Amino acid sequence: MAASSVSAAAAVPAQDGAAQNSAPKTPQAAKRLEKFKTTIFTQMSSLAIKHGAINLGQGFPNFDGPEFVKEAAIQAIRDGKNQYARGYGIPDLNSAVAERFKKDTGLSVDPEKEITITSGCTEAIAATMLGLINPGDEVILFAPYYDSYEATLSMASAKIKCVTLRPPNFSIPVDELKSIVSKNTRAILMNTPHNPTGKMFTREELNVIASLCIEHDILVFSDEVYDKLAFEMDHISIASLPGMYERTVTLNSLGKTFSLTGWKIGWAIAPAHLTWGLRQAHSYLTFATSTPMQFAAGTALRAPDSYYEELRRDYLVKKSILVEGLKSVGFKVYPSSGTYFVIVDHTPFGLENDVAFCEYLIKEVGVVAIPTSVFYLNPEDGKNLVRFTFCKDEGTLRSAVERMKEKLVKKG
Ligand code: GLN
Repeated sequence: MAASSVSAAAAVPAQDGAAQNSAPKTPQAAKRLEKFKTTIFTQMSSLAIKHGAINLGQGFPNFDGPEFVKEAAIQAIRDGKNQYARGYGIPDLNSAVAERFKKDTGLSVDPEKEITITSGCTEAIAATMLGLINPGDEVILFAPYYDSYEATLSMASAKIKCVTLRPPNFSIPVDELKSIVSKNTRAILMNTPHNPTGKMFTREELNVIASLCIEHDILVFSDEVYDKLAFEMDHISIASLPGMYERTVTLNSLGKTFSLTGWKIGWAIAPAHLTWGLRQAHSYLTFATSTPMQFAAGTALRAPDSYYEELRRDYLVKKSILVEGLKSVGFKVYPSSGTYFVIVDHTPFGLENDVAFCEYLIKEVGVVAIPTSVFYLNPEDGKNLVRFTFCKDEGTLRSAVERMKEKLVKKG
């Protein structure tokens, strides 16, 4: 029997319940997912635990979300809001999202027809790809890009086209972008403020994207989960540019703004004709999202402006501790205008590439960062860059800097 059929046969349970053979089974995945590995965030967070390292890798706060939001969730559970929610969101949350979008962008949207509540922005992204992209459609990404974009586009059998944003400013190479637009381009998938670089798309850059999309009838999927963590300039939703709302899906979530990344409440805002497709996918992916958490999310989104101002102020302090710290260690630190991430060039320390540097950092220094090569179609483009997060309490950020100061030595 050929080796491949042995492993296929071994996957079938024996009639009597005993294992048919004890050979290790080859991991199996559908072809469209074969190239993807365990996500870099999962890998790095387990290494952090294994080595007792300070985790400045995966972006989750090590402090808790606000009491008034947690109390609202507890109250909703006690009030018996525990059965399936309406598939596209409880009415109160759809309205709260519409109110916030109006406040932020000036756009009035119909909460019933144009807003869909999902299980985190990751599900909103997947529902958008699966609901609006046909096999073979081309979708343009800006590298480095968040890992789920490539995987969900692959699930939708899309063809990925990519332009690379390069340091120091990670600006859009406009001519390159124009040159990869074709008659098969269905959408541009963008993210501002941008993970992992902290770049925010300027009004000029958004205008370039908008005019290309209008000229060639292209959709925009805009991931804006860090919109409230905008430090150096005001966040602009591309949907608010003239002629863009009708071709844009705006994606967002609760997790980053309310330090509740484990709640997994997200949403997609899009005109009714695009909402239709993404809701079709959402209906059969998750159908509905946790009911009590949706009630609490409605309370959260109606927080006074002072909540958002304080969040920003707190993050500015954290950002400065990390950025100044990394500079004093000897990294070349690239400017980060938004998000809770910052990108550095690790080459002063003489390690071969981003993965080797991160391994050294965990094992010898006791700090976790994220190698960025996984965020590029061509991994070579990320080999000098690693990402740190500052969504940690001040003491943790200071200890991480101290460890690096003590143990990292510049070469040459
Ligand atoms: N968005 C988080 C980050 O970039 C990770 C979320 C996840 O682990 N999938 O760090």
